[in-house]
Amino acid sequence: TVAVIGAGIMGSGIAQTVAQNGMSVLLTDVELSLAEKGKAGIGKSLARLVSKEKMTAADAEALLARITPIGEYAPMAEADLIIEAATEREDIKHRIFKTAGEVLRADAILASNTSSIPITRMAVSSPDPARFIGIHFFNPVPVMGLMEVIPGLATSQDTIDKVRAFGAALKKEVVLAGDEAGFVVNRILVPMLNEAIFVLGAGVGSVEDIDKGCRIGLNHPMGPLTLADFVGLDTLLEILKVYQASTGDPKYRPAPLLQKYVEAGWIGKKVGRGFYDYSGEKPVPTR
Ligand code: NAD
Repeated sequence: TVAVIGAGIMGSGIAQTVAQNGMSVLLTDVELSLAEKGKAGIGKSLARLVSKEKMTAADAEALLARITPIGEYAPMAEADLIIEAATEREDIKHRIFKTAGEVLRADAILASNTSSIPITRMAVSSPDPARFIGIHFFNPVPVMGLMEVIPGLATSQDTIDKVRAFGAALKKEVVLAGDEAGFVVNRILVPMLNEAIFVLGAGVGSVEDIDKGCRIGLNHPMGPLTLADFVGLDTLLEILKVYQASTGDPKYRPAPLLQKYVEAGWIGKKVGRGFYDYSGEKPVPTR
């Protein structure tokens, strides 16, 4: 049994993936109705898979039956693993670990899906930092094949081994990452997206040519400016500021054009405009 705290984009994706691989899931959020809403969202995603004949209706029904929305922490005493996937705010996460810690079984593991908060620092709010670890999934969780595992300073080898086995049970590839800003993947990705915006701002290439160059020249499925629009330019800017503050390294300084786009409110696909205009049938480059 796996408990998932936070039934948003990531929590729902994690719950779906865990249930798809035969495990039972307890799904919670700030209140029961939000956990139920999360489960209903999973139901809609599964219905789309069924209509595309990628899943049978019986499998979808069985998967959903393995997910139980809950409105309190007590049932999590059953869980072998509790994964926190709540809003990226450190105060919220510390409170969750304190409360979950009260019901965490003596042999169970507590994990966070944080993208940026140090694991070692959050582990102090858990009852046993040896059984606390970072499990960083990628969005959309059911589709993306990677799971980053981030041990904190006190995380035991036994916890790492169990979480690796969990990754294998989910059919995800696992990479081990150090507890530093961005872990492995975002540490590499975020400066690349920022650099693409520097290149655009310097007039070295157009939006279209920067994306086309990386798609074809680097064999990336999506250009960096398109990906930045998908991530959200406001989010990207915040992440860069966190890296810059936590490392003091000027290489993470945000591209001035990124700052300008955020100031203009052109923060990407979610508002219909970033480096592309998404109001028509096809995205149109804005520069
Ligand atoms: P989201 O906003 O979609 O979902 C967050 C959910 O947490 C919301 O449903 C909210 O109601 C709930 N929540 C807030 N406070 C809570 C509390 N005290 N108890 C229980 N639930 C609470 O956000 P998301 O994109 O799913 O992100 C969740 C976590 O995953 C964050 O730590 C984020 O950094 C991380 N993450 C996100 C991505 C991504 O691409 N979105 C990728 C990897 C990791």
